[in-house]
Amino acid sequence: MLGTKLYAPGDVRIEEMPEPVILKPTDAIIKLAATCVCGSDLWPYRGLNQVAAPMHMGHEYCGTVIEVGAAVTSVKPGQFVVGSFCLSDNTCPHCRFGFHSSCVQREFMTGAQSQIARVPLADGSLVALDHAPEEDLIPSLLAASDVLGTGWYAADAARVQPGSTAVVVGDGAVGLMGVLAARQMGAARVIAMSRHKARQELALEYGATDIVAERGEDGVARIKELTDQIGADAVLECVGTAESMKQALAVARPGSMIGYVGVPHGVEFDGQQLFYSQRGLLGGPAPVRRFLPHLLDLILTRKINPGKVFDLHIPLADVAQGYKAMDERRAIKTLLRV
Ligand SMILES: [Zn+2]
Repeated sequence: MLGTKLYAPGDVRIEEMPEPVILKPTDAIIKLAATCVCGSDLWPYRGLNQVAAPMHMGHEYCGTVIEVGAAVTSVKPGQFVVGSFCLSDNTCPHCRFGFHSSCVQREFMTGAQSQIARVPLADGSLVALDHAPEEDLIPSLLAASDVLGTGWYAADAARVQPGSTAVVVGDGAVGLMGVLAARQMGAARVIAMSRHKARQELALEYGATDIVAERGEDGVARIKELTDQIGADAVLECVGTAESMKQALAVARPGSMIGYVGVPHGVEFDGQQLFYSQRGLLGGPAPVRRFLPHLLDLILTRKINPGKVFDLHIPLADVAQGYKAMDERRAIKTLLRV
């Protein structure tokens, strides 16, 4: 089969490799319906995370089960499944509290930028559909695996309430999904911070009510102006840099929450500043499994169309071009046809 490996920064290759097999009785093997490149794949691609050995890439997936291990009971061959990028047992105390991404058995999915993939902890990580989905829904179902689930978590962690004002920092795929999520959760006002025309347009389509193109102090001033100098009730931080976190803290009102889902790189907090600012922070890898049943329902009933975030569709064989397009910000998110 074909699979994707990252050999070194900037060096991603598609190659022929052995098909994965069941390694543990809790595994499932799936045939991917489609897969994609994640913003977080760009960290090692850009050399910001170390690449020690060739890494088998890909953690976003949906497709058809072809085989299950002896202990798997909730999914069976032939079923179409969507799973979380964060693998969990769905039974431990953290899972029961809804924090599947801190599962005591937590693993992270790998090897999904392939034709076939092994999904560990299949019972706890996969959700099966009643029947095979219509073809045009596959991008949206794939989005649920990570990018939508992560944007949703940002809004959930930021405690977006009906009627509230939410600010979304970051106009990448996750930020755009955060806009969609905040709107779905009933925010009356969703302010998207974006300087890029195509992303602004998609943000508006997903329910943004205001666009702020300014950044830094100007961006903060603009949001204060839009919120009667109070600041936002909920802030979704969807980037992970020192600048974006500073922006998020500065536009949040006292008593608000910041849901932060961009993997922090170079972010530091000053204890006293945080103490006197009275802002709350909740973030981390998204417990996508908690949200999956609801998200799949919204997608299958066509209430949301997160799949539109994929603005580049190419064959898996051209995966290197997909990374390049995202790295150069020519594409918001690349879908790989398998
Ligand atoms: Zn667990």
